[in-house]
Amino acid sequence: MVLVAHAAVGGALGASAGRRSPAWSPLWVAGWALLSHVILDAIPHWDNLFALGWLIADLAAALAVAAIIARLARTPGRVFWGAFLACLPDLEHLLVGWLLPQRIFLSHLPWFPHGQAALVPGVLTQLLVVIMAIAFVARQRAAGAPVDRPPRQGL
Ligand SMILES: [Zn+2]
Repeated sequence: MVLVAHAAVGGALGASAGRRSPAWSPLWVAGWALLSHVILDAIPHWDNLFALGWLIADLAAALAVAAIIARLARTPGRVFWGAFLACLPDLEHLLVGWLLPQRIFLSHLPWFPHGQAALVPGVLTQLLVVIMAIAFVARQRAAGAPVDRPPRQGL
């Protein structure tokens, strides 16, 4: 998928990390963020990895969505860490043939079922992913569960 979709899901995972464990674990976020990249790449989508203008717009949109999620969750560090890691595997598209002899990330390997779709349905799929990720974090916030609360001390 495009960066903005990966950033939205990675950001939402980062935002929810504190709800899963008393202490935020960067490794927990890293594992789920990277796994989310694989899962999202398997969903049929449209992307254009080689147009510089598109990449810049996509990166700007990814930062904007991560900022929205960080504001909703009030945990910018976790959200940006999750968003960054969820986007990181796509960096290899820029490095292949230059610093990397071939792509090495699971969902970029030739045999992986990298879902492709035409422009309109392929963009709508990703828009839906972004909206769902933002809605997920907004719902957590509305439920009054502060994501960044410290672990309870005793009783
Ligand atoms: Zn990818």
